[in-house]
Amino acid sequence: MAAQRIVIENCAIATVDPNDTEYASGHVVVADNRIESVGAGKAPENLEAVVRRVDGTGHLVTPGLVNTHHHFYQWLTRGLAQDANLFDWLVALYPIWSRIDEQMVHAAARGSLAMMVRGGVTTTMDHHYVFPRGVGDLLAAEVGAAAEMGVRFTATRGSMDRGKSDGGLPPDFAVETTEAALLATEAAIDTYHDPSFGSMLHIAAAPCSPFSVSTDLMREAAALARRKGVRLHTHGSETVEEEQFCKELFGMGPTDYFESTGWLGEDVWMAHCVHMNDSDIEAFGRTRTGVAHCPSSNARLAAGIARVPDMLAAGVPVGLGVDGTASNESGELHTELRNALLINRLGPHRERSLNARQALRLGTYGGAQVLGRADEIGSIEAGKLADLVLWKLDGIGHSSIADPVAALVLGAAAPVTLSLINGEPVVEDGHLTTVDEDAVARGAREEAQRLARIADEG
Ligand code: ZN
Repeated sequence: MAAQRIVIENCAIATVDPNDTEYASGHVVVADNRIESVGAGKAPENLEAVVRRVDGTGHLVTPGLVNTHHHFYQWLTRGLAQDANLFDWLVALYPIWSRIDEQMVHAAARGSLAMMVRGGVTTTMDHHYVFPRGVGDLLAAEVGAAAEMGVRFTATRGSMDRGKSDGGLPPDFAVETTEAALLATEAAIDTYHDPSFGSMLHIAAAPCSPFSVSTDLMREAAALARRKGVRLHTHGSETVEEEQFCKELFGMGPTDYFESTGWLGEDVWMAHCVHMNDSDIEAFGRTRTGVAHCPSSNARLAAGIARVPDMLAAGVPVGLGVDGTASNESGELHTELRNALLINRLGPHRERSLNARQALRLGTYGGAQVLGRADEIGSIEAGKLADLVLWKLDGIGHSSIADPVAALVLGAAAPVTLSLINGEPVVEDGHLTTVDEDAVARGAREEAQRLARIADEG
């Protein structure tokens, strides 16, 4: 069957290709689930099988945004422990999180995904690491929610096996055994991981953090992931307290600990990486270990400012992350473009830290790199997958800003007129096409209240 085409024209385009090519007025042609062509001016005439022609006047087209760190389940525990740092916040929330069940995780995943997709996210990961016994299939609940919404997804099978009695931070009742965690991770890969070009579902192995995971599990998870050909993810170098923890327990800082357990490499990406010295950054650059930069969460938990300009200069792949919505209640990625730029300008590089184009690159191509999908997504180039966003910039929030990329990054959160994932519309005129937004909001509220009630009963 001949390809079905969607033509978008008369719009500004920021391709985020290797040359940062932009068009003040251009076109993109989508054929089935791929980008067929992109260029200046109107689309070529005489295209066959055009099923839709979109007039993008007043709009900017960018690659879809890629979220590289999240914890969907936290959608039900937003707004708690508002003034705590990471360790105090975790200790306050672990007992609540250990009461989640399949229905709650499904409602939370729908809320998290709906918020991101409505704001231009086309690919996301999720890091789920709380697995109470006998509460259903939590990974299946997330995978199902992403499929319903039509989102490209990297689900990770997270884990914790270092409870308080082993010197860890989580209470013992919130952790699994090492063996159970490894078996479940292998089963998740075998059940779900689709490595084909254009895949809608990847699995990665994701032990939670040095202070909640045994050294055995770190080593064995890395070996398992490499045997299966999947990626590795964890939290790293988030706070000064974590650095102290590593020095006391392992006699070295987090990056040296990761290196000693096989956790530096081009198949690894880590969330945060705030407390990195020059040699840590050099090690990440040398090994091409990726970073999920989460500026809002780092601010919310008073963690610090990640050295993103130094990482980029050292050749470290860097993407952006929402992080869980218990530490970033808005749960949006397009506002993280702005926050990444603003927060890094408070660091030592000041106005030379990140510009608007670099911020957009972190949120698109950089994210594709750290998820291992830079050949498929992250830029608008012929042959790549049709994950595109049409941002409305002629409204009151943006119409007087001449530079469309500056309008998107520095201006108010821009409305999405159209978002395509794999060539399929998932947002039209600011609203999700695949789910009922009111039902998502209602479901999240009900499940958040049920969780609070169960946690209260103890
Ligand atoms: Zn996190």
